[in-house]
Amino acid sequence: MAENGSEMNYRLVPSTCVYCGTGCGVLLEVTGDRLSGTLPQKDHPVSKGALCIKGWSVHEFVYSERRLTKPMVRSGEVLVETDWEAALAAVADGLSAARDKHGPDSVGFFASARCTNEENYLLQKLARAVVGTNNVDHCARL
Ligand code: SF4
Repeated sequence: MAENGSEMNYRLVPSTCVYCGTGCGVLLEVTGDRLSGTLPQKDHPVSKGALCIKGWSVHEFVYSERRLTKPMVRSGEVLVETDWEAALAAVADGLSAARDKHGPDSVGFFASARCTNEENYLLQKLARAVVGTNNVDHCARL
């Protein structure tokens, strides 16, 4: 029972930090139906109770007003909301046009530490097998 007399559902949900490939163990604090904080998992085999500053704030982006939750395409100077089919078609058309006009090495792919190994593998496969470039890099090197 909370101080104001209402029921307050607080719980800890074990998870893995999404900010880099280290894979530190976090406990997401959930108050009611909202993420309210992050704590370290003291017995986690990788992080052993430690988190860097990014890990301590891993819950904060979830409710950010700046978070993109829908696909957008550029129309002139502005981004316009669209559906996934149109967004992916715009990406495919843009990549094809750049490759056809300037060659495959005019295109570069940047993978993310916030994706899984399998997703990063697929990205480099797309770069090499479909577009024909070895220009593949990773956000951790930027
Ligand atoms: S807490 Fe820091 S080091 Fe650990 S996974 Fe998250 S970003 Fe990487």
